[in-house]
Amino acid sequence: MTTRRSVLKAAFGLLAASAGGTLPVHAAYAAAPLVQRQAPAFYRMTLGSLEVTALSDGTLPVPLEKLFNNTTPEHISSVLKSSFLPSPVDLSVNAYLLNTGSRLVLIDAGTGELLGSRLGHLVANLRAAGYAPDQVDDIILTHIHADHSGGLSIGGKAVFPNAIVHASKRDVDYWLSAENLNRASETQRKSFVEAVTSLRPYVETGRMQVFADNAEPLPGFGSILRPGHTPGHSSIVVESQGEKLVFWGDITHGDAVQFNEPDISIDFDVDSKAAAATRRQAFMDAAEHGYWVAGAHLPFPGIGHVRADSDEFGWVPVNYSAAG
Ligand SMILES: [Zn+2]
Repeated sequence: MTTRRSVLKAAFGLLAASAGGTLPVHAAYAAAPLVQRQAPAFYRMTLGSLEVTALSDGTLPVPLEKLFNNTTPEHISSVLKSSFLPSPVDLSVNAYLLNTGSRLVLIDAGTGELLGSRLGHLVANLRAAGYAPDQVDDIILTHIHADHSGGLSIGGKAVFPNAIVHASKRDVDYWLSAENLNRASETQRKSFVEAVTSLRPYVETGRMQVFADNAEPLPGFGSILRPGHTPGHSSIVVESQGEKLVFWGDITHGDAVQFNEPDISIDFDVDSKAAAATRRQAFMDAAEHGYWVAGAHLPFPGIGHVRADSDEFGWVPVNYSAAG
């Protein structure tokens, strides 16, 4: 009887015979060039009936010892070293796409063309994840900053031609204020100009909406005002079938320092003291309730849980699953 195994055995026998009794050996090794690029960076998980897709915009090399305050550069250098991290260290810039079944909602929009070529990959990764920019119905911003609102526009044109942008009223009032722009220092000025430029195509076409403190930007999407990093910085909350995920925005910049030392803030904060208090509250709430968290600058995909431990708090990244 001919079985699949006997056919395979016969085929291997012929191959061995034709090669003089041994399997062929490659004699030459090509000098393959280094490829030096990552795989398309999206990560998918389900939350109840929702599909959640983490999208990487890229990474930004940041010299944390020069930017963290309420500490010393020597201390930050030693923390990085003990975490096997160099300086500058790559900080992820993550955004998140939610498919509710009836709406496609993007939370934050990456950097666009504002922060160089190691960033600005959100749209490519959105496409790799199976979607196109014109399918996005709504974009909710955790706050207005180059690495969250910068990707809304490229060359003065809306990247998401059908989307409505939702941002906290406090942030819109702060960043789009001509008065604030005029009295900003030279270094701060850039952020105000970038905010106006990125939002302009949506403002001009009536596709910009504001939400009040702790209000729902959209039905089914809650918000928690967590000021400090910016005046209207807000976490965005979704729940489905008993599962909860809180999109943190910039509660933390990386995972090596601030979980153990929440009082350390970064110079990107508009109000460092308020940001530190907000961070501690956010960590405590996440650790107490055990819900999922997604952080814009935690190592991609930036999804996981927070737990209380002997060093204040700890970050527990999501366990990789091929199930999606
Ligand atoms: Zn940010």
